[in-house]
Amino acid sequence: MKIPFKGYVAGAGAATDLVNTSPRVRSGGDALPDSAALERFLTERGLLPEAARSAHDLAQVHALRDEIRVILESDEDEAARRAGELVARAGTGPRLHRDGDGRWHWHVETAAGASLADELAVVLGTGLLGALQTLGHDRFRPCAAPDCDGVFVDTSRAGRRRYCMPELCGNRVSVANHRARNRERT
Ligand SMILES: [Zn+2]
Repeated sequence: MKIPFKGYVAGAGAATDLVNTSPRVRSGGDALPDSAALERFLTERGLLPEAARSAHDLAQVHALRDEIRVILESDEDEAARRAGELVARAGTGPRLHRDGDGRWHWHVETAAGASLADELAVVLGTGLLGALQTLGHDRFRPCAAPDCDGVFVDTSRAGRRRYCMPELCGNRVSVANHRARNRERT
C-alpha cells in the first residue's frame, strides 16, 4: 500500500489507539482479545483494507503494540530510531506520487507479501516519524489521569491534549474532581 508522509495524523492517531487497547491501560482487559476485535479495530480506522490476514496476526500485532509503547516512552533520538525501524520492516521508498491535488507528495510503500503486522508497522511508524518531525517530541506524552497508564501522541493544532482517551480518562478526572469538591463542601 501507499502511505503519504503528510498523512501522519491518521498514523499517529492509530498508534495511540493501538497502544491503549492494552490490558495495561484498559481496566476491563485487553481490547484486542481476538481476531474479530482486531478486524474491527482496523476497519473502524480504514486501515489496511487490502492486506491479507493470517492466523498469526493477533500475536504479531500485540508485539507491535508493545513496541509502539516503548517508542512513545523513549527519548527523542531513540523514538526516531525505533520508529524508523518499524518503517524499514516492510517499507520501500520514499517515492513521489501525485495526490488528488495534482502536486507531488512523499510516500512510503510496502513490499508485496508483507504480513499484516509489518504493513501496520509501516503505517504507524510513518505516522510517528511525521508527528515527531512536524510537531516535535513533546507531543509524545503520558496520560494526565492519575490512575491511567496510557500514552498518546497529541496531533491537535493547539497541542493541549492531556488524556490518552479523552472521552474516558478526561471524564473520569472531572467526575473525581467534582466528587472531591462536593466532599470539601460537606
Ligand atoms: Zn488515560
